[in-house]
This record gives sequence, structure tokens and C-alpha cells, in this order.
Amino acid sequence: MPVMELKHVNKSYKISGGETFQALKDVNLSFEKGELVSIIGESGSGKSTLMNVIGGLDSDFQGEIVVDGDNIGEYSEKNLVQYHKEKVGFVFQSFNLISHLSVLDNVTLAMTLSNVSKADREKRAKEILSAVGLQDQLYKKPDAISGGQKQRVAIARALVNDPDIIIADEPTGALDSETTEQVLEMIKEIAENGKLVIMVTHSERVAAYSSRVVTIDDGRVINDQVKNTLTVTDNKYKTSKPNRNKNLSLFGAMKLALLNMKEKLSRNILIALGGSIGIMSVILMLSLGSGVNAYLTDTMNSQVNPLVSEVHMPDEETGNQTDINEIQDQNPMLGLSSAASFETENIEELAGINHVEAVEEGFTNFSIGTNKATFDENTAQFMSVTTVSSMITSADIIEGSLPKDGEVVITQNMADTLGEDLVGQDIQVETIVNEESLDLTMTVSGIYGSEGGLDAVYLTYEDLKSFVEEAGGELDPNIVYLVSDNAANTESIKAEVEDLNYKGSTTEALADTFSQMLDIFTYVLAGVAGISLIVSAIMILTVLYISVVERTKEIGVIKAIGGRKKDIRRIFVSESFLIGLFSGLFGVGIAWGLSLAANAVSTNYFEIDIIDLTPMYAVSGIVLSIFISMVAGLMPAAKAAKLDPVESLRRD
Ligand code: ADP
Ligand code: MG
Repeated sequence: MPVMELKHVNKSYKISGGETFQALKDVNLSFEKGELVSIIGESGSGKSTLMNVIGGLDSDFQGEIVVDGDNIGEYSEKNLVQYHKEKVGFVFQSFNLISHLSVLDNVTLAMTLSNVSKADREKRAKEILSAVGLQDQLYKKPDAISGGQKQRVAIARALVNDPDIIIADEPTGALDSETTEQVLEMIKEIAENGKLVIMVTHSERVAAYSSRVVTIDDGRVINDQVKNTLTVTDNKYKTSKPNRNKNLSLFGAMKLALLNMKEKLSRNILIALGGSIGIMSVILMLSLGSGVNAYLTDTMNSQVNPLVSEVHMPDEETGNQTDINEIQDQNPMLGLSSAASFETENIEELAGINHVEAVEEGFTNFSIGTNKATFDENTAQFMSVTTVSSMITSADIIEGSLPKDGEVVITQNMADTLGEDLVGQDIQVETIVNEESLDLTMTVSGIYGSEGGLDAVYLTYEDLKSFVEEAGGELDPNIVYLVSDNAANTESIKAEVEDLNYKGSTTEALADTFSQMLDIFTYVLAGVAGISLIVSAIMILTVLYISVVERTKEIGVIKAIGGRKKDIRRIFVSESFLIGLFSGLFGVGIAWGLSLAANAVSTNYFEIDIIDLTPMYAVSGIVLSIFISMVAGLMPAAKAAKLDPVESLRRD
């Protein structure tokens, strides 16, 4: 049975203007094992066209090419891939070796596409390379070896999957006469080893090596002459058949991509650096926002007891009160002075909230110009009289202790104005509370150390209530503190307080608003920085397009040795994945370095880390970078996968 049979094969090319050009005309040929067939004919007679249809690189022909009982013209992509992997091997005039792969890797590539294990791949590739006499050149790149050696590598590549048919289009066209002899000897041996070798040549001398010469003219076979039969000898070029049913693995694609990137190292480093700038800016902006926010929250939390929630009465909506509310809205500090008082039922309601262990009553009063404290001859103005609660912890008292009956705590700023060593001294405190003027002699029990806070005098609620009542007035709490059984429950208590329509801490609400504004600001900045991500994406897109153009030949070769469209796409997508990964790593690395520097400076001046680069930001940055790069890589990868192998291999 013939290895291959051509029956009435016709092939037309579409040319411009809707016309066609018939390059093969009713070709009928039958080939056997162990034949070395030379196809000769003038340039343009259709030799390469014939090779392409025989080799399954071009399925667009009429008639039948029967191999193993099937017409290869009707093969599905899957069958064609299998045909390229198992049945045919190609040798080209211009070698078509992949320049960034070593001699060994060029030969193993065909097996990498079948996901043959590394050890197996290398063992078999080394066997074949020894058979063609290249055992000492394994790790050289194609650039470093001679033309004859390159063609021997190409022959080894064609043989490594142990195909039945070798197709060689002018294999000696680029070689000098001495090397031509060697390569032809080798090709002859291969045929003698029982393979069908079909070789295109111009030269009569080359044709003299063959067992059969087929002459083509203007697309027609005009002569088919069997000269001699080859004696089949020991199979020198045979290797064990590998399992070729599998396909290129992701890891294999990744490795191929990496090898290519390594070849153009400086270019790829520059791309990754360019890509990293966008990622870096976005990460830095987000980290800066979160650093400043964390600082704010920290400052807030350090001044409050995490167990305690502050509660105010809701604003009253009566006509008269509305004007005051407006003023309050404009100045929340003034607002507190006219805050409504709690009734017993309010307090009972609040005490009923889940996890509330205690309700403390309190009072706070802001006013300007009416409050002063005197000691010796010194006078200090202050703005607020506030009762102490569990909200103020002794951690806030930098000197002395919290006040008991008859005692006050004053702010550090006031203490500085009034005199030295004030703790234990009596001072005079004048203020107006609920329209009652109070003139009190109080012992300073401690100094309150809030930074940047308002000047204030702190005393117990019981003291303040009895002072006001002694003066003939009344005092109901205008602020209460809910003590939670556990700090973890404070948030739920605060939520419940809002549900019941009470107001939380004004300072906290302010801080919340501020931190929301900060968040918005951060996102806007990050968004602006994000624009550079688009620039990176376009850059990566361009570079991958260039890479596709540069690697057109390589893509053709991969298809000829059994690479699927999917494999080609995978190699390019892997490359964009790697670019994205490296951009992301660079971006995070640079952002990290800059954050260290910025934090060193900010710690020096403000005792805070201004940039809070969390692992979450770092990981998201890398993921984002990979995502953008892969999206940018989709189009070039699709373009590469679609390349026509005949077209891509023809270019020289
Ligand atoms: P050979 O290899 O014998 O020199 P080819 O098989 O390359 O010849 O070409 C045979 C004929 O088909 C030539 O006339 C050539 O111009 C034409 N041809 C080859 N490829 C194409 C193509 N893609 N489109 C149109 N015409 C083509
Ligand atoms: Mg040709």
C-alpha cells in the first residue's frame, strides 16, 4: 500500500480582481516507503505549492491526497495537528530555526507541543542530534553554528517525532557544495531507513541522489522517472515513538514565552518598567489615603474608650429651634451648648439596648467669652465645661488623676497659662451653665493632654448638677455615655442608637465625614493615576504586535510541527501574562521602596507612617497588572494564532 497517493489534485490561488491562478493541474502521484523523490521544475512551476498541500499546510485544494485511507484535504484541525505531529516532518530552504532557542530546544519543541516529559524529550532529542553529528552543539543558539549545521538541526527537528514522511523544500538551496553533499547523504540515509522523503530541488546533481525524479512544469507532472530503488538499511535515525496525544501544557507555554522574553531582555525590562509606573502610582495613592485615614482613626481611637458610645438627643424640629439648628449646623461646637436634655424615658430606652451594661449621664456646655479660670494673678479662658465619664480614660490624663468631688481636670494649655505644678492647687472657675452663673473653687486633680483639643474644664456630673441646683437652676443630662459589655459590641450599640433616632458623637460624625471625603479624594487620585494604566496597556499591545510580526516564521514553524492555534495563542498570552506579572512586581517593589522613604520622612516629622502599603494593595496591584496586560495581549495573540503557515513560512 502506498504511503501517500495523490488523485486528481488541483490547486488554484485566488488573485486580485476575483481571478484565480491554477498552480497545480490534475496531479496524480503515488509514493512508497523508502523512496527518495526529487521534485524538479523551473521556478514558479508549482513545486512549493505541491509540498504545501502534501504537508497539510494548505488544505484548500481539489482532488484527494490519501494517507492511511483518509483524504488529508478533509481533515479537521485536530486531525491536521495529529498529522503534523506524527506523519510529516518539514525541512526548509532557510532552515527556519527559532533563534532564541538552543539547538536542543529547537529539536525538543516538537515534543514540548505534545507535552512529553522533559527527561524523555531531551533523551530523544540528544539521540537524534548525535545521529546527525551535532552532539557537541546542543546548547548553542542557531546564530552560533554554520549553515550545514543549521540544516542538520532542522533535519533532526523533522525526525524527532519519527514521522513516515519527510518533506524538504530545497533543503540544500542555501548551502555550499561541500555541505550540500553531507546533507544529501543524510537525507538519502533517512530514506534508506524506510521513510518517504519528498524533496524539491533545482539542481540536477541533487536529483542524482534520489531514487525517483518527478518533473513539474506549469503545475503539471510531465515526467515521473524511477531511477533505482534504495536498499533499506538499519534505522540509524529511529527513536522510540513518544506518546503524542497530549498538547502543549500551560507550563510549557510559559517556559517558551519566558525563553523568548529572555532573548529580548532589555526590551522586556523596559516594557515592564513602563507598565509598572501606572501600577505604582495607583498603589501609592491608595496606600497614602489609607495611611492618612488610619492615622485619623488611630488618633480618634486613642482619645476615646472603645467600650463607650457617646449619645446626644436628636435635634428638635420646632420652629424656634430650627434657627438654632442652622447655626449649629454651621458650627457644631456651638451646637452642643444648646443640645436637648435627656428625659428619664430616653435613658431607660437607651439602657434597654442589647449589650449596654451601664448608662452614664453627662453634661457638656460650650460658650465663648464667659468662661475663665484664675490662679494667682493668671487667667485662662476656656470654651467648654464637660463632665467626666468612662469616655475619658486615665490614659488621657498626662499628670495627676481623674477628678472626684470638688476636683477639676484642666487642659494642658490652660495649665501652661495658669502656672506651674498645678496639680493639688485650688483654682477659681467661673462659668455660666443653664443661665446660672457659677463661681467655683476647685482643686486641680489632673491635666488633660489632648493635642489640638479645645480648652476645657472637666468635673464630675454629680458636682456640676449640685452646683447648678445650689445656684437655683436645674441640670438634666444633655449627653449620655453607653458602656458596652465588650468592645466588639460597641459598633452594634452605635447602630442601634441611630436606629432609635438619637445622635452619636459629633466629633466622630465629623471624623467620619472627613474620612469619607478623604476616601473620595483618594479614589479620584488613584483614578487619575489609573489613566497611565491605559497607556501601559496600549504599550504592551503594541509590543506584542511587533513581537507577532517578528516571530511570524516561528509561528509558521510551530504550526508545521503540530502546534494548534490554541497553543500559539497560549504562548502569546503567557508572554503578556509574564509582562503583566513583572510590571506588577516592579510596580509594587518601587511603591514599596518609595513608601519606606516617605514613611521615614513622615515618621521623623509627624511620628506617623503616612503610606500604608498593605499586602492587599500589593497583591491587587499585581493582579490588576496581569489582568490589564493579558487583556492587551488578547488581540495580538489572536492575530498570531490566525497566521497562515504557508504565508508565514514563505517570507525570507
Ligand atoms: P515553485 O516553488 O515551483 O517556484 P510555487 O509553488 O511557489 O512555485 O508557485 C507556483 C505558482 O503559483 C507561481 O506562479 C506563483 O506565482 C503562484 N503562487 C504561489 N503562491 C501564490 C499565492 N499565495 N497567491 C497567488 N499565486 C501564488
Ligand atoms: Mg518554491
